[in-house]
Amino acid sequence: MAAKINSKKRKQIKEILSKGHKKYHCIFCKRVFLVTDLTIEHIIPKKDGGSNEITNLVLSCKICNQHRDRADFCKYVIWMNNRIIGKPCGTKSGGNGNRFYKKRRK
Ligand SMILES: [Zn+2]
Repeated sequence: MAAKINSKKRKQIKEILSKGHKKYHCIFCKRVFLVTDLTIEHIIPKKDGGSNEITNLVLSCKICNQHRDRADFCKYVIWMNNRIIGKPCGTKSGGNGNRFYKKRRK
């Protein structure tokens, strides 16, 4: 099993994953947090043989980290994305469904 990450290494990993920013978004809910408030999340959990390599690590908020628990990474990302986006545009109740696209128009 992969060794525990010490606090010095943790800081380095967070710096790499946040690309040096002070604030960064949670991989799951996309909300922005101070990097110090984010946790290091294993894509493949350590219990399932996941490593501490940077390619297996992402930043997530504490809420998502706890909520995901041992759920499959991809499934959790898809589930979370559906929750954020909600109903597709053009549905009856989605009167304002296009507002995200309008913002991007030049
Ligand atoms: Zn989150």
